[in-house]
Amino acid sequence: MNEAQRMHDSKGSSSFGSTGATLKIWNPATGQVAKEIPADTPASLRQKMEAARKAQPAWAARKPAERTKILKKFGELLVKRADAVAKDQSLETGKPISQARGEARSTLGRVSFFCENWEKTLKAVKLPPAGNTEEEIRYEPLGVVANISAWNYPWFVGANVFVPALLTGNAVLYKPSEFSALTGLNIGALLWEAGVPKDVFQVVIGAGDIGAELLKQPVDGVFFTGSYATGKRIAEAVAGRMIKLQLELGGKDPTYVADDVADVKAAAEGLADGAFYNNGQSCCSVERIYVHKKVYEPFVKHFIEVVKGFKMGAPSDESTYLGPLTRQPQIQVIEDQLRDAASMGAKVETGGKRVQGAGWYFEPTVLTNVTNSMKVMRDESFGPVIGIQAVGSDDEAVSLMNDTEYGLTAGVYTKNRKRAEGIMAKLNAGSTYWNCCDRVSPQLPWTGRKQSGMGSTLSTIGILAFVQPKGYHLRAPAKASAPKKARKAKAAKKPARKKKR
Ligand code: NAD
Repeated sequence: MNEAQRMHDSKGSSSFGSTGATLKIWNPATGQVAKEIPADTPASLRQKMEAARKAQPAWAARKPAERTKILKKFGELLVKRADAVAKDQSLETGKPISQARGEARSTLGRVSFFCENWEKTLKAVKLPPAGNTEEEIRYEPLGVVANISAWNYPWFVGANVFVPALLTGNAVLYKPSEFSALTGLNIGALLWEAGVPKDVFQVVIGAGDIGAELLKQPVDGVFFTGSYATGKRIAEAVAGRMIKLQLELGGKDPTYVADDVADVKAAAEGLADGAFYNNGQSCCSVERIYVHKKVYEPFVKHFIEVVKGFKMGAPSDESTYLGPLTRQPQIQVIEDQLRDAASMGAKVETGGKRVQGAGWYFEPTVLTNVTNSMKVMRDESFGPVIGIQAVGSDDEAVSLMNDTEYGLTAGVYTKNRKRAEGIMAKLNAGSTYWNCCDRVSPQLPWTGRKQSGMGSTLSTIGILAFVQPKGYHLRAPAKASAPKKARKAKAAKKPARKKKR
């Protein structure tokens, strides 16, 4: 069986079967199956849904402080077990062990943000009374939500959803990617150990077909992280059900290096890391660079030097910076982009081909002489490839940066803040950067425009995403009327008044 067939097998038939359904866990560093684990079936999914529905009201009824304590404990356990969980993640995704450990540990920042802010964010809003009616906004959980997730940062993107979902009183059916299923099981184990009831957070194991089955369950919300192609399918599948839908999708994220950049070398180093960290498999990886022609040559020179210095190797090696790609078929996507670019005149400055031997390794690749009509500058590469193009002005850079179907992040390197903010205001992206890139903050909304998605996670907006508001119109009954005799006596003393509305 060749690699493509094996991948097909792992995506399709392996996850189904009325008895003994399993999912194969692949090791991208060897191209071999590392493990087989039990997978869900439509029948087991129905049971999980029913159990979650039953368990959710009691979870929502718990004191807010109790839920916060449990999720804080989850964060502590994750830091304690970072080494062990990083090994599983590294095995199944090929992420270098130091990066996997870093992700597990840094997830605490998001967990802490949510734990510290969710109660304040959802405090009932008392509005000025309207006449004799008090008015108030209160928030209620959505109910049972489905979280269908991606493999590239399973802790980060998972925590963006399941942490605020649980804190705000929802039950979660969490489907990790088939390429990070061991991590998904670790997430479940740590949440349960921290005190989340098993029926309130359940892990759904399987490939896309099980994801599609999950959508057939009567969930109250769908929170998806993944590609635009799958996001579109999901939006179509739930259309008409009037449930909450959030989609965090791909990007083709550009950066512009202006002629007054403070330090060309530092910009080249920062952007090379932004493009190649996690092998370019980040939704906000830098995927296109536009450099002002005045600094183009030194920038490209430094950039190539940095990229040539990246150490490729076994994910288990502490000093590895570039591991294998997580999914073998992505190699063909990259090769197709490179063929297309070459046919239109692009120049390969370094890299350009897959690494022969075991595993799904691809050389870190830098292209110049690129244009926006090439696939490599239009379609998400999600791999170790970057195109660098010279531009003549800020306006040209802005126009090229916005010339995309995506809108996740975009940035600019310049020493002039005013110039930077002027450019950032014109960028049609959910996140914009000045002198930095490939960065996510728990305090800021993570949100995509156009084909990069809809809705926001993180920040207080990403807490409100998991609740539904309810308006309270509160009118106390009119004061009890006085006895008839007393009313008559009072009326005799006072002149008659007109009735008011
Ligand atoms: P993917 O779309 O292939 O899969 C994502 C999830 O959807 C998986 O769990 C998969 O099993 C499931 N799925 C597949 N088909 C389905 C269907 N028909 N119905 C329901 N579920 C289905 O994406 P991926 O390869 O896991 O992740 C890579 C993509 O995710 C990239 O495009 C990347 O940019 C994007 N991403 C975006 C963000 C963000 O925050 N915007 C973060 C991480 C990754």
